[in-house]
Amino acid sequence: MTLTEIVDIQKIRADFPVLDQEINGKKLVYFDNAATTQKPIAVINALKHYYEFDNANIHRGIHTLAERATRDFEATREAVRKFLGAASTEEIIFTSGTTNGINLVASTYGRKFIKEGDEIIISGLEHHSNIVPWQMLCEEKGITLKVIPVNDRGELDMEVYDQLLSEKVKLVSVNHVSNALGTINPIKEIIAKAHAVGAVVMIDGAQATSHLDIDVQDLDADFYAFSAHKLYGPTGVGALYGKKALLEAMPPYMGGGEMIKEVTFEKTTYNELPYKFEAGTPNIADVVALKAALEYMDSIGRDKIAAHEDMLLQYATEQLLQIEGLRMIGEAKNKVSVASFVIEGIHPQDIGVLLDNLGVAVRTGHHCTQPLMKRFNILGTTRASFAVYNTIEEVDRLIAGLHRVKKMLA
Ligand code: PLP
Repeated sequence: MTLTEIVDIQKIRADFPVLDQEINGKKLVYFDNAATTQKPIAVINALKHYYEFDNANIHRGIHTLAERATRDFEATREAVRKFLGAASTEEIIFTSGTTNGINLVASTYGRKFIKEGDEIIISGLEHHSNIVPWQMLCEEKGITLKVIPVNDRGELDMEVYDQLLSEKVKLVSVNHVSNALGTINPIKEIIAKAHAVGAVVMIDGAQATSHLDIDVQDLDADFYAFSAHKLYGPTGVGALYGKKALLEAMPPYMGGGEMIKEVTFEKTTYNELPYKFEAGTPNIADVVALKAALEYMDSIGRDKIAAHEDMLLQYATEQLLQIEGLRMIGEAKNKVSVASFVIEGIHPQDIGVLLDNLGVAVRTGHHCTQPLMKRFNILGTTRASFAVYNTIEEVDRLIAGLHRVKKMLA
């Protein structure tokens, strides 16, 4: 294969100060991007600028700093609306991340509209944060949880999905992209089929937003959640998209300031969307910096980022498969830049520790997907996940490291 340079990699790497350091005497190779991505200087500067010049509480202040903070906070809401392809900023709720978004839907939509005897469908590829909130709801309300199984390539078995669907199903919640395997799920089809039986669909977009173009209207998603820290933005902030009619019908999640229109001891009326779901002082600085992350990705070009990551994935997969005893876990036809693998006779944790000694950061373990690991009869994998700033030379460092690990431990 030809390894052409799709992005200006040296320029991009210079945008990420954290990459310029040595770990255990070796230049850092950061391949734990599915857990969280590193932050470009534009995002770091946005945080710094906010605290140095604009820090104030939002929405109710009439002084200049409050106006500036409010303006920048709401500008991010518009940027997220555009990023997700939503019709209105009323449909964009700031959260602390994907986990928070899913719990919000389970606690409000779920509690109000799903009843004993109903069914919820999730998939065998889910992160614990898209399993446990539904289990908690099912336990509380006497709802049945059904699971779309995963085939040997790490793809969803869509024939079984068809069989699971019935008018009893009130909600389907699946991820757009699997964090453990990188599988891209056919969510447009999943959504259309769920709608055909009258179910609403929640999409966990945590792993999709840094790799794929999202258009919630084209997908016809009812809810779509993501975390900023997976797309070069800060930790502790994310957004939940919800169709306006659904959000309007849902009760609030948390009570407090900002989410009210009027409070008396007898009765409280709730604020309009999206504020009805944003009780308390939000994570203003990180919301403001999320816009810088979205702009950063746009400045490179989402298609170029995806093409670069795919090139790395193809190269890494080719090289990994040449290592004797290595088995890829997750070989879906459609996948993002996640290479998950096991090596016969070597515990993933030992691989992780030895690679760290060589300056290479990978993730090892169950990746918050214990049922998926069980499906493949393994305790965990070693996962290398690639981002826009990674290089072919870094993949070579991983491969050389794995050869060393094999020599030492196999
Ligand atoms: N869903 C998927 C697929 C994920 O990969 C993650 C994080 O790893 C989450 C949900 C949870 O995201 P957060 O911890 O940012 O809420």
